[in-house]
Amino acid sequence: MTDPAVSCSIDLAAPGKQIGHLAFPKITNTAGWASTYVHIGSVARGEGPTVLVLAGNHGDEYEGQVAAMRLLQELQPEQVHGRVIVVPVLSKAASKANTRNWPSGANFNRSFPGRPDGPPNEQLADYLTRVLFPLADVVIDMHSGGRSAWFIPCSHMHVVADPVQRKAMLEGMEAWLSDWHFLYIDVNGTGLLPVEAENQGKIVITTELGGGGRVPAPVHRLAWSGLNNVLRHVGVLEGEVQTRASLGKPPAVILDGRNPDTIVLAPEDGMFEALYEPGDPVSEGDPVGRLWFVDRPDRPPELIRAPMDGVVAVTKAIPVTEQGDCVFVLGVPIDRSALL
Ligand SMILES: [Zn+2]
Repeated sequence: MTDPAVSCSIDLAAPGKQIGHLAFPKITNTAGWASTYVHIGSVARGEGPTVLVLAGNHGDEYEGQVAAMRLLQELQPEQVHGRVIVVPVLSKAASKANTRNWPSGANFNRSFPGRPDGPPNEQLADYLTRVLFPLADVVIDMHSGGRSAWFIPCSHMHVVADPVQRKAMLEGMEAWLSDWHFLYIDVNGTGLLPVEAENQGKIVITTELGGGGRVPAPVHRLAWSGLNNVLRHVGVLEGEVQTRASLGKPPAVILDGRNPDTIVLAPEDGMFEALYEPGDPVSEGDPVGRLWFVDRPDRPPELIRAPMDGVVAVTKAIPVTEQGDCVFVLGVPIDRSALL
């Protein structure tokens, strides 16, 4: 197999703290030979698991990027048992442009497993697939709803087939200590980063930390506290592991979003009005949103109804809506014992 197109400026096998970059060919008009840098750091000391902390998979999801950059600055080798590798902003050009996708239009989270002779997004994906994931025991990939959606701030997971991996992922998800958790499926194509890591047997812990173009301070706090508690939970970071009980909080609610009918799409173009907030319970048939028509103010709004009983997990953040856009997602509360 061809070597990766991506090179790394730091020695990922070395102890101590290093911050450097991944580099891959950049096609530009300002230089004949140029590289795109994606920054990477490693904090390592002695025996223990390797945890890969990733954010900015989608450019306009800043909650995890801030937490990961802070981790890279604050984490010191003497706090670590094993190794923490951080890539705080995977899709750097998209992050700067406040877009979900790369300027090329590529969705980095549909680029896996990638290939060394593919376009840049696939080159970077290939490096994660063949170099970074094999080093890791745990892969943390922090997302949110991005500009377009508000996702109830939570950690979430795929319900993987292997029961040992599934239990470890469930416990890792719960260690984020969010009020809510979500079980998701892939309804929008293949090539996801978490799926590639799951297929390699890793404990994969992912989040959806709000979104909608603004990061409330409590969400920044949840990104930071959850990330740190998960690092303690998997044993790579010193310190006492907290639980919701130790914080005096009630158990979190796990919402099951594995039924594709929970994802409700707009029947036509319009202006979306949400009638509920994420976290609100709804009953089958309840109007959850209304679609208004800019060119037809005389036309009554189209009611968009809940397809089942559940809890609103996601709502569209940008009222302007195209036919087929997701306007809301429901989750159905499920007991954690059903996942063991
Ligand atoms: Zn995302």
